[in-house]
Amino acid sequence: MADTALIDTLSARLGPGGVLTGVDTDAYLQDWRGLYHGRAAAVLRPASTAALAQAVALCAAARVPLVPQGGNTSLVGGATPDSSGRAMLVSLARLNRIHAPDPVDLTLTVQAGVPLKAAQDAAAEAGCLLPLSIASEGSATIGGVLATNAGGNNTLRYGNVRDLVLGLEVVLPDGQIWNGLRCLRKDNTGYCLRQLFVGAEGTLGIITAAVIKLVPQPTHREVALAGLPNLQAVRALLAAFQRADAPALLAFEYMSAEALTLVLRHIPNTALPITTPSAHYALIELATTGPAPPLRATLENTLATALETGLIDDATLAETHAQRLALWRLREEQSEAQKRAGASIKNDVSVPVAAVPEFLDEATRAVTALVPGIRVAPFGHVGDGNIHFNLVQPATMSGPAFLALADTLMHAVNEVVRAHGGSFAAEHGIGRLKSTLMPTWRGGAELDLMRRIKAALDPDGIMNPGVLLP
Ligand SMILES: Cc1cc2nc3c(=O)[nH]c(=O)nc-3n(C[C@H](O)[C@H](O)[C@H](O)COP(=O)(O)OP(=O)(O)OC[C@H]3O[C@@H](n4cnc5c(N)ncnc54)[C@H](O)[C@@H]3O)c2cc1C
Repeated sequence: MADTALIDTLSARLGPGGVLTGVDTDAYLQDWRGLYHGRAAAVLRPASTAALAQAVALCAAARVPLVPQGGNTSLVGGATPDSSGRAMLVSLARLNRIHAPDPVDLTLTVQAGVPLKAAQDAAAEAGCLLPLSIASEGSATIGGVLATNAGGNNTLRYGNVRDLVLGLEVVLPDGQIWNGLRCLRKDNTGYCLRQLFVGAEGTLGIITAAVIKLVPQPTHREVALAGLPNLQAVRALLAAFQRADAPALLAFEYMSAEALTLVLRHIPNTALPITTPSAHYALIELATTGPAPPLRATLENTLATALETGLIDDATLAETHAQRLALWRLREEQSEAQKRAGASIKNDVSVPVAAVPEFLDEATRAVTALVPGIRVAPFGHVGDGNIHFNLVQPATMSGPAFLALADTLMHAVNEVVRAHGGSFAAEHGIGRLKSTLMPTWRGGAELDLMRRIKAALDPDGIMNPGVLLP
């Protein structure tokens, strides 16, 4: 079927607002960072799983590629089609139904296009917490976070989203609907199919709904920001909090002085709440449920001991909800500040937690040797060994000239990651950005197995081609 005939048929099936073409598609065809620009025959906006399934079957019959898109916050170009203009971009935005949370089963059933924040709010209204927290949660969708196996601030305590999903509904590449929307904690009935689609970045099917695990809403929260003299102290402070009360530790986030300075410079209404600047910062959040847990005392005592032993330079504790939000804002605005600071090269990597200080030292030396004056602005989820080792253009170099060095710089960083037994793709996924690196990192039996799974589910290769698998 010619593309125009296919688009006409799809328009008839998906109804008013179901198919966009021409300039109406522009917003869908560029990624959040403005690095990837694609083209698409049309943008499909199905309003139901059944309508999506029909559209997928029609596209499959015509061998037309499909690129699923949720909130379009991918940092690896995963939701942007290629430049051929053949693909149909599938926006999940209209699959936006939230079912009532179940506070007894502690589950929430949501459609894929629901923004993560809306799902969190629905859980909170029922006295529960959806324990996935990422800076893009206002836009990122349930389908997107599942397709990328998002991590974020609370991985330390609750794991990645893979650990939070009990059930899934998926439209398969041939248009069949797999309804695995179960809310069971125990269900040993063969291969765990839902986990195949989590982290598959839209290459095996389109997630349309999910059952997510909740936990009771914490009744007590304490947040502090500490300034630290060196990276070994960051690691030691994490260990001190784990010794003090590991189950209460909700987040332990790292910011370098350079990263924090970018936020203070580029994000309005932010301020450093500590008098003397430090070389490194840790944002710590403790949270528990229960009558009167000694959280405040744990935080104060651990920081006081750290101050006495020289582990920290200084610290500030949030006294109010507004102060808690202000401290978190310094961390949450990191990506936005770096976007405003100029051209940046992102390395979302992980190493064993114990190796974080050595990794940061060695990677900094490696990139500085290559580009003198480079601004090294790492931050991240240090509690689970995930560092966003981000590099900002030197003041003396143009953005395009800096970006031309991206492969060289990423290679240099990845060599250090490899030496420490880490991963070149910690939580943002592979997308288009890193797919060519798969053979060197996951070659042999591992990549072969992935290709066989892909061929079994999507023999014509129509699902998000060019993403994840090279
Ligand atoms: C400021 C900022 C902060 C961020 N912080 C974090 C963080 O802390 N932790 C983290 O893990 N990530 C983070 N990210 C990255 C990003 O937000 C996550 O990868 C998120 O999970 C993507 O969700 P999305 O709905 O925007 O997906 P999109 O960007 O639309 O898509 C991402 C990938 O998933 C696929 N996809 C989307 N929806 C579906 C679906 N329904 N079915 C199948 N495939 C689908 C797409 O094809 C694409 O490959 C951040 C991004 C930004 C901009």
